[in-house]
Amino acid sequence: MISGGLDSLLAVAVLAKQGIDLLGVHFLNGFTPENLRRRVNGLVSMDDIAEKRGMALSGLLGIPVRAIDISADFLSVMKDPPHGFGKNVNPCIDCRIFLLRKAAEIMRAEDYDFIFTGEVLGQRPMSQHLIAMRSVEKESGLTGRLLRPLCAKLLKPTEMEEKGLVDRKMLLDIQGRSRKRQMKLAEELGVEGYGAPAGGCALTDINYARKYIDHIEHSGGRDLSVRDTVLFSTGRHLRLSGSIKIVVGRKQEENEYFEAEWTDHYLAMTPDVPGPTVVVLGDPGPDDFPVIAAVTARYSDGKNEKTVRVDIVRGEEKMEFEVPPASEEDIALWRI
Ligand code: SF4
Repeated sequence: MISGGLDSLLAVAVLAKQGIDLLGVHFLNGFTPENLRRRVNGLVSMDDIAEKRGMALSGLLGIPVRAIDISADFLSVMKDPPHGFGKNVNPCIDCRIFLLRKAAEIMRAEDYDFIFTGEVLGQRPMSQHLIAMRSVEKESGLTGRLLRPLCAKLLKPTEMEEKGLVDRKMLLDIQGRSRKRQMKLAEELGVEGYGAPAGGCALTDINYARKYIDHIEHSGGRDLSVRDTVLFSTGRHLRLSGSIKIVVGRKQEENEYFEAEWTDHYLAMTPDVPGPTVVVLGDPGPDDFPVIAAVTARYSDGKNEKTVRVDIVRGEEKMEFEVPPASEEDIALWRI
């Protein structure tokens, strides 16, 4: 189970050196900042992203790699992670368990012997200390069949080592947050071309977390969708009331994304001057529309004019407003 970062490359190299037949599996949970950006900027689907990522990782690792989109399924982990969240909204332990269960399904269905990961003992505070690593192994149903080649010598021998399928002597004992040993090993093994593991995770980002938490607090039990998770990384978010939130496009690509993917919601625009496209979430009443129009005007090129024309549309429905732009003070109060 590989991310594409240095540790997973080294884990592949260490096992490939023993002549073991390997299949890489790379899961896309939908929260990589780069993927979120690509989905908005180029209106790229997760299928396209998965296909390209699989090809890139195969080339990098020199083994077949299957990249699998699990973004819809992953929402179940976000809803109620039994092990809780980390510093922001990152359910790291349950995320690992979920991914390992998925990998285990492939292992069993296709008759592979074990799962390996590039984990290093003590490298990540939430998910890579000894107790968490043991509990992840147990709860994913992989006791004895989960190999961590980079730190295996610090852990109990696995079934594969005991049976002689994997030579324990050729495994490693790396631990801690320093990357020095990995860099040295990369040089020795001729491993190159690595980057950050899949470009990070938006769930660990405080700005993303703020929008996620605001959504959960105000969703009234409405299910979280993959589309919502893309929206948290897009535009400026303003909460106008307990039931109304608006998202203001910051650039052309975001405006286009709203106009393509959010047409089932009210969209506000300024037809006479360049300005953002604004998505309205919730169920606005007659008093809310002039406020929405004023915020839209504030972010348009007419922000210093006395009044600006704003159209708010949803399908065939269209309303026209001529409003003074909202003040900076109001905007500051509403910003999430
Ligand atoms: S940082 Fe994100 S992808 Fe990584 S384990 Fe945590 S939740 Fe999962």
